[in-house]
Amino acid sequence: MKAEIQRSEKLNTLGELAASIAHEVRNPLTVVKGFLQLMKKENKDDHTQYIPLVLSELGRAEAIINDYLNFAKPEFKKIEECQLSDIIYEVLFLMEPLALKQGVQLDIDLDTRCTIKTDRNQLKQAIVNFVKNAIEATDDGGMVSIKLTNHPQYARLSVKDTGKGMTPEQVKRIGTLFYTTKDKGTGLGTTVSLRIIESIGGRVKYESKLEVGTEVTVFLPIIEPTVELVSGN
Ligand code: ADP
Ligand code: MG
Repeated sequence: MKAEIQRSEKLNTLGELAASIAHEVRNPLTVVKGFLQLMKKENKDDHTQYIPLVLSELGRAEAIINDYLNFAKPEFKKIEECQLSDIIYEVLFLMEPLALKQGVQLDIDLDTRCTIKTDRNQLKQAIVNFVKNAIEATDDGGMVSIKLTNHPQYARLSVKDTGKGMTPEQVKRIGTLFYTTKDKGTGLGTTVSLRIIESIGGRVKYESKLEVGTEVTVFLPIIEPTVELVSGN
């Protein structure tokens, strides 16, 4: 199953997103409030039975806010020339503990030099989401391969996992706001990543097969590195 994500279909404007996110955070808060009211009414000393539920709902609200804040930062953009492989190495450094915990091996091939113009923190955020999803989809003993290749006009980053894969229907839904199949997922990560990649003129392709794995390919426009001209005398 191949799918190229069309921004117009999947991504909302910032204003629409803010409204949806406010709504999504309100749900867990309403649940927590309900439990607190119940505890008050019951007037018992021991309310420990509610604590896991309250914590889990608050955790969800917190995760949504964290993901959204990463998303809502573009005002502070700093566009500069960067080496794509450096950015990816920084991402992998961040993701290593998660891979270790999940028993997933990272296979890294980043020997290609590609200069791109971007806000490095934003691009890092986008790539973190792809790598994190790949690791989360993969069981103990599996592998996530990250490979960078250079083409005349673009850089191609492939994040390929041997994880659980997706059905064609699931691939279609990827990038839809709040679409998640995880217990503790927010369904914000891919929306954020796609929006960031779009904003730097790139695009993203998903190929996935159930029980086999997923490959996310990110195409990014490259630039010729600026050559410092030194007077030759
Ligand atoms: P979250 O990770 O919080 O669920 P995302 O927007 O990052 O939200 O991902 C949305 C959904 O897309 C995931 O819940 C998962 O079902 C699916 N998905 C994304 N990447 C992969 C992958 N590499 N393999 C399998 N499923 C994936
Ligand atoms: Mg995610």
